[in-house]
Amino acid sequence: MQQEAGRAGAVLKIDLSALRNNYSLLRSKLGAAACGAAVKADAYGLGALRVSQTLVEEGCRHLFVAHLEEAIALRPHIDAIADSVAIYVMHGSPVGYEAEFIEHRCIPVLNSAEQILAWRALAVARQTELPAIIQIDTGMSRMGLSDAEVRAWLADPDFIRGIKLQYLMSHLACAEDQQHPMNAQQLALFNSLRAQLPTCGASLANSSGIFLGSDFHFDLVRPGAALYGVAPVAGQANPMQAVAHLQGKIIQTREIAAGTGVGYGLTWCSTQPSRIATVAVGYADGWLRALSNRGVVHIDGIAAPMVGNVSMDTITIDVSHVPHDKLAPGALVDLISVANTVDQVAERAGTIGYEILTSLGMRYQREYSDAYLSASPAAHVATPTETHP
Ligand SMILES: *Cc1c(COP(=O)(O)O)cnc(C)c1O
Repeated sequence: MQQEAGRAGAVLKIDLSALRNNYSLLRSKLGAAACGAAVKADAYGLGALRVSQTLVEEGCRHLFVAHLEEAIALRPHIDAIADSVAIYVMHGSPVGYEAEFIEHRCIPVLNSAEQILAWRALAVARQTELPAIIQIDTGMSRMGLSDAEVRAWLADPDFIRGIKLQYLMSHLACAEDQQHPMNAQQLALFNSLRAQLPTCGASLANSSGIFLGSDFHFDLVRPGAALYGVAPVAGQANPMQAVAHLQGKIIQTREIAAGTGVGYGLTWCSTQPSRIATVAVGYADGWLRALSNRGVVHIDGIAAPMVGNVSMDTITIDVSHVPHDKLAPGALVDLISVANTVDQVAERAGTIGYEILTSLGMRYQREYSDAYLSASPAAHVATPTETHP
């Protein structure tokens, strides 16, 4: 019996070696394009600091976050291990916070005429050129300048004054579906708008975009999900390695008679005498309530269905068929594992792997493992398995 979770109700194991392998795999698909990384939302729930440090060690020099706050938190830690790592803020600057980008050496993705003007104004005031990415909307209708706004922008003779334009960027709406006609449409519009601009780099592909082929790679790609093990191509075998492994602790088991209800609302009722185990993970830990009566967990390889509604701090599972000796209080059940991947959990919950990862809770005991640390101990101060309570 395992007793690895200590005081916590569950243990989240994050495999940094798998992260390294995923980064290498993505890079092997690229020609000259640089491989950046989306580390927004705490690197999809896995820890932005550890993930970013690991990727920088692998040679990554372009990190993307959503918010300025995320970039400021990362900056000193990244500076401590490498020079010249760019940290880009995809939402651009919150109005009035442009100067903080300079102070913390973060680069905004400018998404609107207002953001461009504010950035230019700061550059003029400081009598310098300031680096930026400009994002254009090629069909997702979410972020960036529209076709018409790009034309209006280009009509201004001073359009680029003060801006050191590093990349022209856009984002794909349907890249995980390789047959989707939108992929080619967005690519065509991106190429035509690019042709009107002064020479600068270009960046279009997220994880799935990398798998659409070299036409989509340009100078810089921005994968997130695939680095963390989410399948990048719908309907195809997942070439990525799992990074997140989640195990929850059994806190109690009980025998119930036939016809006994389980959990809030008694939404599940036994049809025969049954054994129920209660596991210390709930929707407050990001184990989504949508998994109620749908999810599956594994105990030493034996599948056990989740029965009843997910509670805030617990789930209940039917372990009638699981040998007693595997069910002692403290025993761990696999929630996210090779047998039950992030994508499979997501499918049962009616969502996507991204939401399963970014929902991962703060109450887990988090353990990082990294086989590479023991291989080159001089480069690291951490021990191979480091526990973050
Ligand atoms: C989140 C995000 C990415 C990374 O996308 P994945 O699908 O996780 O690879 C890249 N670019 C933009 C603009 C994003 O918002």
